[in-house]
Amino acid sequence: MPRRKLIAANWKMYKTPAHAEEFLRGCLPVLAAHSRSEIVICPPFTSLAAVSAMVLESNIGIGGQNMHWEKEGAYTGEISAGMLLAAGCTHVILGHSERRQYFGETDDTVNLKLKTALESGLTPIVCVGEVLEEREAGLTEDVLRRQCVRAFNTISAKKAGPLVIAYEPVWAIGTGKTATPQIAADAHSLIRGEAAKAFGDEFAAQMRILYGGSVKPDNAKALMSQEEIDGALVGGASLNPETFLAIVQA
Ligand code: PEP
Repeated sequence: MPRRKLIAANWKMYKTPAHAEEFLRGCLPVLAAHSRSEIVICPPFTSLAAVSAMVLESNIGIGGQNMHWEKEGAYTGEISAGMLLAAGCTHVILGHSERRQYFGETDDTVNLKLKTALESGLTPIVCVGEVLEEREAGLTEDVLRRQCVRAFNTISAKKAGPLVIAYEPVWAIGTGKTATPQIAADAHSLIRGEAAKAFGDEFAAQMRILYGGSVKPDNAKALMSQEEIDGALVGGASLNPETFLAIVQA
């Protein structure tokens, strides 16, 4: 079975509910009519309700950008899987490099969050990727292996069902530098190999691996036409309806 492409918009800390509605007014009919790829919008928590109300009854998914692994508790400022589901989420981004870099996210917390997301029925999009110093030191493979092994720790193939991985080389995020299709394809093969070790060949063959890092309308086609690249996690270019639509249609 060919893997269906997934294009996810990561709005980061941009867009109030009014801005989210304005974005969707500009592109919802075209996005909703697009059936070739799965499309997911990940707004900030405070805009989830607005996006959810507008995409209702379309096949557009909604993702949280983070979540806590506990069901509830005294965790000021945090949000649970149940809360994401109640707000209309179908997906959740876990372990984004900005969470790792600025908010103390570790491979171990990604593992805890991944288990909770899978148990609660959310489709997790787990981000992995090396920073520039690691790439230049020839450590890319070690870093990707470590991030995968620790994220997948003690999760069975039966439980891992909808798992999606996003390969996001940190040096390409928001910088305008994109990994060449070959760099991305090599990293994706390595990640698929780790998934095969953890969950078996059959699981790995159907698991989707997205590329993220300065995906733009002018490079989307070359990236998406790589057999190993099953879609994109798009930051900056997803904030504008025209550029996001151009990527979806690439
Ligand atoms: C991201 O934040 O996941 C991302 C890929 O950002 P950008 O597309 O802006 O590089």
